Amino acid sequence: MSSLGRLVPRAARSWLRSHGGPLGSIVAVRTTAPEFVLTYDDGPEPGDTESILSVLQDRGARATFFVLLTRTRKNPELLREVMAAGHEIALHGVDHRPISRMSYREVLSRTSDAKAELEDDIGRPVHWFRPPYGLQSLSSFRGVRAAGLEPVLWGPTALDSRPATTEERMQRVLRGAGRGAIVLSHDGYADVADGGRGGNHPGHDRGALATRVLDAYAELGLRANTVSGAIASGSATRGIWFRR
Ligand SMILES: [Zn+2]
Repeated sequence: MSSLGRLVPRAARSWLRSHGGPLGSIVAVRTTAPEFVLTYDDGPEPGDTESILSVLQDRGARATFFVLLTRTRKNPELLREVMAAGHEIALHGVDHRPISRMSYREVLSRTSDAKAELEDDIGRPVHWFRPPYGLQSLSSFRGVRAAGLEPVLWGPTALDSRPATTEERMQRVLRGAGRGAIVLSHDGYADVADGGRGGNHPGHDRGALATRVLDAYAELGLRANTVSGAIASGSATRGIWFRR
């Protein structure tokens, strides 16, 4: 899981996973409520975001959307629509460039500016940040925290940022499923224009996948909530997560 993982004894590692100390990123939520945390990255994207919103509304499900400013600047109405539907807005970045190789100062400056811009757009505070590709270094982690945001990573993934079969996606999204699991999925695709790597577009029906994921978790007795919603009735589980 982390570059520290190999250097820290097993007992200390398990303590760090549940407490994380000053270097912990949120990786799950400890809760007794019958819910999981549903997250979407890389949007808003016209078409895909709307079809996911309509599925979430039908199911009474809530989610946290980690947005890119490259997208919110082009789709301000769609951003407002996500918020108006009762979901939570969080920051994925100015763009999709990995921050793990940027300096502390660069991360602090771009993340502070991005937080301010997004808060201005939505008229409320933003608490959470997800580093593009889940890549973060000690410097970038500190920069994000100094900007007033907490890194939120994930547990199960819907494997929907690249081509895969629905069966593969469902297998992966159920690996580690349970109360308080933070599920990574995508309502958009970070292209070269977003600072992403491009290529390998997953090209699937994101609304249909959202339905499958919600159904599969409902079978386990779990409904979808936002990061803030789940933490309000539980507590954050932090873990050491450094990947470059
Ligand atoms: Zn992303």
